[in-house]
This record gives sequence, C-alpha cells and structure tokens, in this order.
Amino acid sequence: MNNDILKVLYSKEEIDNACKSLGNEISKTYAGKTPVVVGVLKGAIFFMTDIVRAVDSYMQIDFIDVSSYHGATESSGTVELLQDINTNITGRDVLIVEDIVDTGRTLKFLLDTFADRGAKSIKVCTLLDKPAGRKVDVKSDFTGFKVPNEFVVGYGLDYDEKYRNLPYIGVLKPEIYANK
Ligand code: 5GP
Ligand code: MG
Ligand code: MG
Repeated sequence: MNNDILKVLYSKEEIDNACKSLGNEISKTYAGKTPVVVGVLKGAIFFMTDIVRAVDSYMQIDFIDVSSYHGATESSGTVELLQDINTNITGRDVLIVEDIVDTGRTLKFLLDTFADRGAKSIKVCTLLDKPAGRKVDVKSDFTGFKVPNEFVVGYGLDYDEKYRNLPYIGVLKPEIYANK
C-alpha cells in the first residue's frame, strides 16, 4: 500500500501537531459550554478521535454519514444523507468535524440541515481545506492545512474505499488511477 504513494504531504507528526493546536483553539471557543461534536463518516474518523481528545471541554459526540462522491475522484454535485445523528441538536452548539472541504457542497448540506433543526451555533473544524475546489461559499472556523488542488489519501481519506488506514496524508501515483 505504501508503494502506491507518490509523495507524503503531511506526516503523522505534522498531523498530531495540527490536532494539538486546533484542540487548544476549540477548547477556548467552547469554555463553559457542552457542544455536540459531529464527525462526518467515514473520512473524518481518525481526525475526529484525535481532535476530541485534544479538546479540554465537556462535549457529546455523534456521527453522520453523507456521500457525494460515489467512488470517483470528482464530486457528483448531490449530497445524500446515509446515516443521521441520534442527538437532538435543537438549541445546542454544534461543531462539525470534517476530513476535507473541497467543493463545499457536503458542508453546505450539513450546515443547512443543522440550521433547519434549530442549532444554537454551528462551527466547522476541518483537517484539510482545498480552497481551489470551492463551488459553494462555505468557510471553516478551525482548519488544519490548506491543500493544493490535488486528490489526497490517507488518515481516513480514501480512493475507492482504500488507503484510509495510511497514518499520513499523501498523493497517489498517477498509475493507480490509470489501472482502475
Ligand atoms: P465536497 O462536498 O466539499 O466537494 O467534498 C467533501 C468530501 O469529498 C470530503 O469529505 C471527502 O470525502 C471527499 N473529498 C474531497 N476532496 C478529496 C480528496 O482530495 N481526497 C479524498 N480522498 N476525498 C476527497
Ligand atoms: Mg468528509
Ligand atoms: Mg471518499
């Protein structure tokens, strides 16, 4: 699996450091509050578990599963709700934890959905932000790294459901796509 990687963009150490500093920022923001932290499956699983343990604040955690990619490397433009959260978020402070914001459509869908349900506040923490991919205007409140417009894998992010278990974030060799 490691042989399929062209280059490493962010090492495990860099990701750990980013989680620590984001955790500090988030702790300050939610001091005295008990937010509902919602991890977006499946890409954000590792980031979610690392980030919540870096935050010193009471919190509830939940997960939501949405899909817009259907196995390809370009967004299809529609977002489907595959599995909802169980928590009633009406009147609650909600923090969405995402792996990456690309077109912004997934995030827009989540922001609209949680706003409709009457969340008191909604903020976004994403490990990666790809501003060049943006199609709708959404912003992240807590961002780990701004990435170039390349398809990245690892640390939860997949290509064709593989590579999620790489401990770092990297770019695949072009022949991996060509052989599909
Ligand atoms: P958006 O709705 O912002 O276009 O995309 C959000 C979702 O698309 C992300 O949560 C992620 O699952 C997927 N995605 C976007 N860019 C990349 C990428 O570079 N690599 C991988 N593996 N997934 C991506
Ligand atoms: Mg995601
Ligand atoms: Mg994916």
